[in-house]
Amino acid sequence: MIPAQHKTYGEPLMTTAPHYSIVAPIFNEEGNITLLYERICKVMDDLGEPWEMICVNDGSRDRSAEMLDELVERDSRVRAIHFARNFGHQIAVTAGIDYARGDAVILIDADLQDPPELIGEMVERWKAGYQVVYATRERREGESWFKIFTARLFYRVIHAITDVHIPVDTGDFRLMDRRVVDVLKSMREHSRFIRGMTSWVGFKQTGVSYVRDRRHAGETKYPLRKMVRFALDAITGFSFWPLQVMVYVALVLGVLALLAIPFVAIMRVATNALWFEGQATTIVLVLLMSSFQLFFLFVLGQYVARTYDETRNRPLYVVARTSGDSGGDTEPHVPLPVEETVHVENGD
Ligand code: UDP
Ligand code: MG
Repeated sequence: MIPAQHKTYGEPLMTTAPHYSIVAPIFNEEGNITLLYERICKVMDDLGEPWEMICVNDGSRDRSAEMLDELVERDSRVRAIHFARNFGHQIAVTAGIDYARGDAVILIDADLQDPPELIGEMVERWKAGYQVVYATRERREGESWFKIFTARLFYRVIHAITDVHIPVDTGDFRLMDRRVVDVLKSMREHSRFIRGMTSWVGFKQTGVSYVRDRRHAGETKYPLRKMVRFALDAITGFSFWPLQVMVYVALVLGVLALLAIPFVAIMRVATNALWFEGQATTIVLVLLMSSFQLFFLFVLGQYVARTYDETRNRPLYVVARTSGDSGGDTEPHVPLPVEETVHVENGD
């Protein structure tokens, strides 16, 4: 095998359809693209089987787009999908999956927090008969305590309240077999939580563990606002628990009220208890109850809004252009909705 430093990138190995598709979502990652490509090249070339890399440019505002086009020019195994605007991480990953042609599809973050070197181990597990090989973070490095704390909490809450078994501390870094990918492609829901959706598909799934590195360059593209939205998508997409829990709160409060009515009446009549006369207690209770009610209205609203979002049935993303489609399809393999067949009764 040729050592990596003597290799000229851009020698296409691809004579047949790629066995592996690497999918990387890219949002303002100009500082990471080159190194990501180089590290992936090294790992994938060592495997010695044809592969392709699909970079989904999620409306980047830095030099990412030009850098990707340069890469595509140099190496025909690289393809770039440019979105018309920023649609979000989960949607970018979805587009990558739609365009991927490999027998196995590997999702990886572009910031090198997911080490490409782990792909070899994932491929081994895949060849041993697993259809999904996800990477579980043993430890995280170079992230704020807030991020680590909220992430740990998030995975545990999701684990506790969903019916689907979603492994804890596991991101989107994973390998998926073509059979799983084809099912995923038929799931066109708008509020997407890819790791939950993959778990939902089933088949044989296993994990490999790794230490999550710090970001190579740039800053996290997940500010608090996006993190909250992501968490809500995950919860509403995989659990009705928030809706069901309301009934318990209602029951407890109902019982309390039933007990309070005779208690208050008797105290009023039988004693001279002045401490029932304060308005403060009433105000506090009213505020507390309104806050409860508004919170549950918000929860309800989350489900209603998502239902509305689904019924509008807009496309998940808009592609402005693609580059590097030589020898392949330009259209993603999205299954068309099954059309209703209308039986026309012939009169005579
Ligand atoms: N990303 C994206 N669109 C977005 C936000 C992020 O495509 O709106 C990409 C980003 O470029 C990176 C991956 O998703 O490749 C993960 O994002 P990030 O590293 O910022 O998330 P974190 O690791 O901080 O959770
Ligand atoms: Mg990251």
